[in-house]
Formats: sequence, C-alpha cells, structure tokens
Amino acid sequence: MTQLNETTDIVIVGAGPTGLTAAVRLAQLGVPHVVLDAGAEPSRTSKAALVHASSLEVLAELGVAEALVDAGRRLHSIVMVDRGRVLVRVRLTELPTPFPYGLSVPQSTTEALLVERLARLGGSVRRRSRVDTVRAEGDRQVVEGTVDGAAFAIRARYVIGADGAHSAVRAAVGLDFPGQTYSAQFVLADIALGATQLRDDQATIVLSPQGVTVLGRLPSGNHRIIATVDADADVPEAPDRAYVDALRPYGGRTGVVVAVPDPPPGRRPLPGGCRVPRGRRGAHPQPGGGPGHEHRDRRCLRPRHPPRGGCRGRRA
Ligand SMILES: Cc1cc2nc3c(=O)[nH]c(=O)nc-3n(C[C@H](O)[C@H](O)[C@H](O)COP(=O)(O)OP(=O)(O)OC[C@H]3O[C@@H](n4cnc5c(N)ncnc54)[C@H](O)[C@@H]3O)c2cc1C
Repeated sequence: MTQLNETTDIVIVGAGPTGLTAAVRLAQLGVPHVVLDAGAEPSRTSKAALVHASSLEVLAELGVAEALVDAGRRLHSIVMVDRGRVLVRVRLTELPTPFPYGLSVPQSTTEALLVERLARLGGSVRRRSRVDTVRAEGDRQVVEGTVDGAAFAIRARYVIGADGAHSAVRAAVGLDFPGQTYSAQFVLADIALGATQLRDDQATIVLSPQGVTVLGRLPSGNHRIIATVDADADVPEAPDRAYVDALRPYGGRTGVVVAVPDPPPGRRPLPGGCRVPRGRRGAHPQPGGGPGHEHRDRRCLRPRHPPRGGCRGRRA
C-alpha cells in the first residue's frame, strides 16, 4: 500500500556516518526530519577506521566524541618508511586541536554511537527503507521508495543524499560524480599479527617497489592493513590463510612477522579512487579519507547553513 501523506522538513537518505551526523545535528536543532536506510541493520564492519581530529571536533559538537575516544585507540604519529628507513614522521600530538591524535576505531562503533546519540535526542533510523527516486512537486521534494516491499512517499522541504557511493539521490537529481580510478586494487584486512616492531600508537605507511602498505592498530588489538595489489591481480572474495600469508605487500615489504587467523576476517578488495561531486569539494565532515568513497561538504553540518552543497536542497 502506498503511503502518500507523510510530510517532514528534511529527509535524510542513508544512515552511514554522513547521514547519522546530519540527523544528530538536525535533532539538536529541533528540525523535524526522517532518516531512511535500505539496510536491515547497522553496518558491522570496521571500514573507515581512522577518525581525524577535525572529524572529532565535529563529533564533539554532536556530543559523541567523548564516548568515541573512550572506545578507540589514539594514534600519536604517522610514519612513512622506505624499507626500514623513516622518511617522514608526522607528529599528530602537535595539532592545534583538543584531539591531538588520530583515533583508530571501527566505523561500526562510530555509527553505533551516533545512533545512540540520535535516540537520546528522540530520533531514529527507519530501516529496510530503500529510496528509489526523488522528484520535485511544487516547492516540495517527494522521496519515493519501498519499505518491506510496500511503496512509500514522503514530502519534504529538503532531501539530504547520504546514501553512499552509488547514491540514488544523486542519480535522481542528475548530480555529476566525476572522478578517476587508481590503476591498482586495495586489499584491506583486519588481522591478528604476531610479535611486531610496530608501535601501538602509530600508523605506518611502508613504501616499496611492490606498492604501498598501511598498518595501524585497532582497539581490538588486531591490526588494520591496507595494501595495494596490481589492478589485474586475481583476488579471491574469500581468501584462505595461504593467500593472506603469501600476500607480498605486508610480508615482503614490511618484514612484519604475522600470525593470521583462518579465515582472515574483514578483508576485501576495493576499487581504488577518490571522487568528489563537481563543485562540492570541502573538508571531511565524516570519518573517511580512504579509497573508494566520496567526500562531502562540511556546510551540511553547520547549524547556520541550510542543507546544501553535498546535501541536496532543491526547489522547483
Ligand atoms: C570494505 C570497506 C572498507 C573501507 N575502508 C575504509 C578505510 O579504511 N578508510 C576510509 O577512510 N574509508 C574506508 N571505507 C569507506 C568508508 O566506509 C566510507 O567513506 C563511508 O562509509 C562513507 O560514509 P557515508 O555515510 O557517506 O556512506 P555509507 O557509509 O556508504 O552509508 C550509506 C548508507 O546509505 C544506505 N543506502 C544506500 N542506498 C540507499 C537507498 N537507495 N535508499 C536508502 N538507503 C540507502 C546504505 O545502506 C548505507 O547505510 C571503506 C568502505 C568499505 C566498503
């Protein structure tokens, strides 16, 4: 049955870090809104696991930073190494911010804390609600989709498209999404390492002729590894221990001794690339900064600005 009568000020499509951040801010401001997400449940994976100081500053305004910092692991420096030789050491402790470190924390934790905060402010996420399109009707936007197979339509003054890299909102409003794809694949793994020389409070970027490898410790004690492999390399979807052991990027390039659980959890190849909707470049408002994702416009999160830029506020 199609529900046609619902109205609100703002519909947020997507309950990832971006949509949840917008939702908490709107709830703080007392702006009526509805949050829709196609997923049946929140994300359970670590994905964007490094939260930078500027993101923590935004999260502090939302009342989430303290709990997030408690749940995370502080990384005080980022070191770039070339076959054992330190090329660059970036001391995050010298950043002029209340959060002079990078925070290692799974994205699922960030999202869970944002959902909790939203709930304390009286908000919630409507799950299994897939948006198919957005269309203008007079001075309103109509968001149409399905929830558990039943059609819905919600009228709103503004729509915030926070529905990720394959955004239905972006497609519906004809927003361009130009960008380039790196000529490499990135392999991500959260794994248990054996004894290492790595410092727990440091992210390490290892350069080598075989490519780049990034290592950093997660709050669980496991390490996050990101390594480039050839674009045409055949990476299995569910690799076994032998594949991960043989992965040259971290074994050969870093000399780190590893003990990998079988099967290794949380590893998957990502197409590399960084795409920003044209004319929407800005600071990261959300935990992000890695490959294969889009950046959004910080203005969406500022109370003095109406949703625009990376968000979508379209009038007929
Ligand atoms: C495996 C993996 C590893 C990653 N690792 C890193 C990393 O190490 N570092 C890093 O910086 N970044 C990483 N990323 C990228 C990072 O996760 C994204 O940048 C971040 O999630 C973007 O947040 P977002 O809120 O904009 O979108 P998303 O987190 O993608 O959230 C979008 C939400 O919209 C919902 N949605 C989508 N379409 C619809 C629709 N039509 N209707 C309703 N809801 C919809 C989805 O269910 C989802 O909940 C990784 C991503 C993946 C997949």
